[in-house]
Amino acid sequence: MKKGKILLHICCGPCTLYPLKVLRQEGLEIQGYFFNPNIHPYQEFRRRIRALERVAKLKELPVIYEKDYGLRSFLRRVVFREDKRCEQCYLLRLEQAVKKALALRAEAFTTTLLYSRYQGHNLIKEIAEDLSFRYKVPFLYRDFRVGWEEGQKEAQSLDIYRQPYCGCIFSEQERYDKRWRKKRKEVKDEPF
Ligand code: SF4
Repeated sequence: MKKGKILLHICCGPCTLYPLKVLRQEGLEIQGYFFNPNIHPYQEFRRRIRALERVAKLKELPVIYEKDYGLRSFLRRVVFREDKRCEQCYLLRLEQAVKKALALRAEAFTTTLLYSRYQGHNLIKEIAEDLSFRYKVPFLYRDFRVGWEEGQKEAQSLDIYRQPYCGCIFSEQERYDKRWRKKRKEVKDEPF
């Protein structure tokens, strides 16, 4: 791939550290992009933005932030398909990212979602590849999960806020409500 600006869709501060390091080691110029209407409630949304702002400052990473709280649009997207919501969630965020990459004339796009051990990695890859084909913007695939521990340790040592649940209000309930956690585990092929 031609060396140039890469649009990195960012889900949160801690998940940025390892992918950013790897991509920079490859000699790529990274433009961060925060677009996550899936993060609820509002105070948590703000907290994650603040954590990323700290990471961006420490790592001198330019980031474009979409700071409008997207609760309503997200819920409209997943209502009546809550058990399959992650697919819609990935599509919503990655489609916005590919459009941004196109607008910025980036060489390619990728996402920090590929770093998490708790996301549907293959599903994310599939959706991004499909978007890449549709929008004619190369998708830069890396399995950042290999650096999971390294990234977590760095986030801890930098004292970056690490969230206890994925993002949406459903995942918050599954995190804290034992009955829901069990129910969710019974739904096959889902990341959470
Ligand atoms: S669990 Fe995470 S990936 Fe799935 S819909 Fe909620 S925020 Fe999105």
